[in-house]
This record gives sequence, structure tokens and C-alpha cells, in this order.
Amino acid sequence: MVFPFGQATGAAGKRTMNMTVFEIRRHTLRRIYALYEEFLTGHSIACVKGCAHCCTGRVTLTTLEAYELISNWESAQRAAYGHTVKDLQNRPRFQPRFTTNQIAGLCAQGRQCPEEPPPADDGGVCAFLSAGQCPFYPARPFACRCMVSQSVCRTGGSALVDPLILSANTVFMQFIEHIDLIGASGNLIDVLAALATDADRSAYTHGALTWENTPLIANQPLKTLMIPPEHRNALMPLVQQIQQIRV
Ligand code: SF4
Repeated sequence: MVFPFGQATGAAGKRTMNMTVFEIRRHTLRRIYALYEEFLTGHSIACVKGCAHCCTGRVTLTTLEAYELISNWESAQRAAYGHTVKDLQNRPRFQPRFTTNQIAGLCAQGRQCPEEPPPADDGGVCAFLSAGQCPFYPARPFACRCMVSQSVCRTGGSALVDPLILSANTVFMQFIEHIDLIGASGNLIDVLAALATDADRSAYTHGALTWENTPLIANQPLKTLMIPPEHRNALMPLVQQIQQIRV
């Protein structure tokens, strides 16, 4: 796994030699998630278990994140979910038109950063939220992990997010997209639908799944980090930590 700017994951070692490229991607994703948890410990966060105010139909993720999520389910859950996502296909939801690295690329070329038009209906509460709990919390995607507020948003009406955390979130999303270049990004329902069967997941792990007839957008490599000038110094150590991940 090669990260941009000349760094690589997977230092020499017996364990790395025995791992497939796809397994290295999965391990790298878990390390990125762990690094994000570590990053958050230095910040004051009001979010607590059981608060699901930010669990909406706007959640987006990569195919690698969805694969990781599905892999954490029991086999019975996996078998049932294929039907569940098909039932959800008519549900209104936010479907992004650009990936984070696509937006970064356009901005780097001096073109106007495209804005995603707000959906007429984003589907309200996340379709998977069950009795106020996330059924796959330990393996939840980054978009759910990074919804962190300094104040209790349920009472305040909206989240209060430290601008530095927002910039860090973009950096993490750029790397997460980069490690899944055989994959795509999209709404939670759409990505889970694309990986609904064992055959889909197997094809994906071999880079043989295509996205033309799906609402998903092919992931793009990270070429330019999107960090505002005022946060560059503060976030460069974090960028280096991500680049130095060894699996
Ligand atoms: S996936 Fe889980 S954490 Fe994310 S929005 Fe849905 S219920 Fe909430």
C-alpha cells in the first residue's frame, strides 16, 4: 500500500509478506480509524453513547468501509442484509456526485469547488438505526465516527464542530478514499447494495466490480491535501502519522 508523497505502508516483515494486498488495505483502514480515535482524545467532545441525533440518511462511505462493516456481522445478519438493502432502494437519500479527492483535485486546478446540492429529502433518520442504537457501531464508517460536537446538538439544534476537527476529517476522508482505489463511494444504502452478495464482495476484493450502472462514484487517488492554510501547521504531524502507518 503506497500512500501519496512517497510513503508506504507494509514495511518488510513476515506478516506483511503473508498478507494479500486487500488484507493490507483492511488493516490500514482499521489503523486509520484507531488513529482518529486517538486524535479525538485531545478534544472536548459532548457526544455520548445512545445519542443518535446525527444518524441520518446522509451517511456516505467507501466500498472498503462497507466491506469491513459487513465482515463484522454474523453470517445470519449478512444473509439478511441483502434483502434489507433491496427494500431500502426506494427510500429518499443523499447521493453524492463527487468524492472528496475529486473535489480536492478540482480545487487544486483552480476550479471552483463543486458544492453538493442539498437533497429534496435526505431520508431522515439512518435506515439502520434500531431502537436508538447503531447495529454496527464498532465497525461504523468514518462519516459516523467524525460527527463529533463540542456541544449537545440534540438540545442546541445543530452540532458545534471545532474547525480544526473539520479540516482533520477531510484529511482522514482523503486517505480513506486513497486506500480503496479499486472501489467507489456513495450513500450507505447504495454502497451496501453494491456489495449485497458473496459474489459481489468477492468480485470487489479482486478489483473486478464496476460502478457504471450504480449510483456510486469511483474513488480517486489523493494528490493534494485539502487543508486550509490556518490549519496546515497543526495538522502536518497528523498527516505524517497517517503516512507512517505500517501494517
Ligand atoms: S451507520 Fe450507525 S452510526 Fe452511522 S448513521 Fe447509521 S445508525 Fe448512526
